[in-house]
Amino acid sequence: MLRTNTCGELGKKNVGEKVTLSGWVETHRIQGRISFILLRDRYGITQIFVNPKLTKNLGEVRRETVLQIKGEVQARPENQINKEFSTGEIEVAAEEINILNKADPLPLETDVESTEQTRLKYRYLDLRTPDMQKNLLIRHKAIQFIREYLNKEDFLEITTPILTKSTPEGARDYLVPSRLHKGKFYALPQSPQQYKQLLMVAGMDKYFQIAPCFRDEAARAHRAPGEFYQLDMEMSFVEQEDILNIVEDLMIKMVKEIFPDKKITQIPFPRISYDEAMKKYKTDSPDIRKDKKDANELGFCWIIDFPLFVKQTEEDFFHGAGKEWAPSHHMFTAPKPEDIPLLDTDPGKAKSLQHDLVLNGFEVGGGSIRIHDPKIQAKIFDLIGFTKKQKEYFSHLLEAFRYGTPPHGGIAPGIDRLLMVIMGKESLRDLIAFPKNKEAQDLVMGAPSEVSKEQLDELHIQLKK
Ligand code: ASP
Repeated sequence: MLRTNTCGELGKKNVGEKVTLSGWVETHRIQGRISFILLRDRYGITQIFVNPKLTKNLGEVRRETVLQIKGEVQARPENQINKEFSTGEIEVAAEEINILNKADPLPLETDVESTEQTRLKYRYLDLRTPDMQKNLLIRHKAIQFIREYLNKEDFLEITTPILTKSTPEGARDYLVPSRLHKGKFYALPQSPQQYKQLLMVAGMDKYFQIAPCFRDEAARAHRAPGEFYQLDMEMSFVEQEDILNIVEDLMIKMVKEIFPDKKITQIPFPRISYDEAMKKYKTDSPDIRKDKKDANELGFCWIIDFPLFVKQTEEDFFHGAGKEWAPSHHMFTAPKPEDIPLLDTDPGKAKSLQHDLVLNGFEVGGGSIRIHDPKIQAKIFDLIGFTKKQKEYFSHLLEAFRYGTPPHGGIAPGIDRLLMVIMGKESLRDLIAFPKNKEAQDLVMGAPSEVSKEQLDELHIQLKK
């Protein structure tokens, strides 16, 4: 090991110990013949005392240089104790300093708000800021909490394919050309919707996945361009109320454990019908907080009783559906049983078993009870104007439903969106290690990028001039 301890753990109890620390230079302050280095890692900051001889040999060290320090832990005099650091009661008197890696002048100063593009290009430097370190730590803790909770509730975490077939869930697909099958393409999943339903047919009973989802959409406020992560869940033999209850319990417990300063406006979360929400709040994602200025208030609510279909609009065109009706959620959402006759007479009036989880005015998750009757599924496909060819794309699902399908349903809260709202962050990027910019580019890697003629040839692709 290149260290015996981290930069965040030494204290009074270690005084007199010989230690080795490794980390980044936060500052190097020369005071006459002696100097002080603040050495930083993910765990904290430790002050290093550098004696005259070492100071002379070392010269000035540029910040963000990576050092290894060997030395002895010493107590600081009472008047020099620094309460800001967990290690503020001690310093390490250096006996040996090794430069592990010199840092060039930084393209962005890690403590200054640099322009967004530069910050994204040098994201690995931006991630060194305490704020970003904290955000990723909280994201990790929230995901661990979710995993443990669902594990205790008997959910199985199952991964589903990334190279798959287009699922028309409303957005444009990202396509991947097949080398082995000329002229054919995979699609990256907009969500694992069909797979999770097939897992229910397979008898898995309760499934979840921290699932990457890919949607080629124009950048919109509070949508990560390109890709994002969902807590994707599906359960068999449940009614809508069961789904709401388990997700609600998970949210309440997660907030209590990971965000103890936050207060939830109302428990149980109010269940508001779509019509009532539109009437009272003029939106289907209302902000029900009592005090909207209180940064610690979390106003969760459920919106239910959505219309099954909405009229297609140009701004919000549902890719994959025809010109007239689009599903309000997606085409696997079940109509309310009492509204099934309306499918033949007045489909615009039919309500569905869709549920949206809303927090402080943001939709943070949507789901539904699914159709498990192949006849009703076929009827929905007709109503949203599927062509014969489009219907064939789904023949596997309709076929699967013929071999004993449990009634099932689920939901998929967006991980980054949910945490962004809970933490009161402005941007989804605060929660994503390597986010895309508004033009869906990855500035760190420089993606998307051109590829060689040989690669294109192998894929049977010729670029349009
Ligand atoms: N697949 C849906 C979505 O991505 C979620 C669900 O219905 O469970 O919005």
